[in-house]
Amino acid sequence: MSESKSQLPKAILLDMDGVLYHGNKALPYAVDFIHQLATIPHVYITNNPILLPEAIAEKLERLGFPKPSKEQIITSGIATAEYLSSQKKDFSFYALGAEGLHNALLRYGTESEIDADYVVVGEGEGIDFDKLTVATNLIVAKGAQLISTNPDASVDAVCEDKKTGKPIRCIVPGGGALVAPLVVATGVKPITIGKPFPLLYEMALARLGLTAEDCLMIGDRPDTDILGAQKLGMPTALVRTGRFEAGAKLPNGVRPDFDVEHLHALSVGLGFS
Ligand SMILES: [Mg+2]
Repeated sequence: MSESKSQLPKAILLDMDGVLYHGNKALPYAVDFIHQLATIPHVYITNNPILLPEAIAEKLERLGFPKPSKEQIITSGIATAEYLSSQKKDFSFYALGAEGLHNALLRYGTESEIDADYVVVGEGEGIDFDKLTVATNLIVAKGAQLISTNPDASVDAVCEDKKTGKPIRCIVPGGGALVAPLVVATGVKPITIGKPFPLLYEMALARLGLTAEDCLMIGDRPDTDILGAQKLGMPTALVRTGRFEAGAKLPNGVRPDFDVEHLHALSVGLGFS
């Protein structure tokens, strides 16, 4: 991609974790970068189904970012709820995962452990043996369709150090890992919603009223953020501030248009600073 100002994208899609913050800490240059986007439409898309858009907007504000509207934030939880609603109006579901996923689904459907149309697996707390058993039987005996909010094997998080009790960086099982017990138990493959699958990008493009070629996707994971956008023909920028660090070799077939150490380097590349 040319780095001249005339090539500026009409809009920007951003991942958040590993791009703007880690846990509860804004990453260097991230707040300045978002301020530079004041006149460029931008939408945040995240595979994380744990928080609702309203809660993420508040988190961004708490970390020093300009507070986005809730329409600017698309989580895999909200995307799952909208997708299921488009497939079956007034659907019923049985969800495994944190409260934000249940609340997202409740905006469009009703929860049932008796005859759910869909078993939805997200991330976070709220997944245990009893729930896996209910879900397995809904799929096998009642024909419920298995839905996974996102395919991530693991995600970065903040955990309590078992020795000191202090918060430390850690990894926790992601949506792809958490749906695996049901895949094995039932022999059924899930429909997966999050990146690198197209739905989150398509929902963002619909909100922006633009095509993929007009936008730039900024993410920290080549296998999800970048690959998914690339498949749609959307220009991409990989920032190496997340799990994928400076010097790590790109997976085969992943070709970001910008491959930078941090958001300040991208800002220079785009001609913002
Ligand atoms: Mg990320």
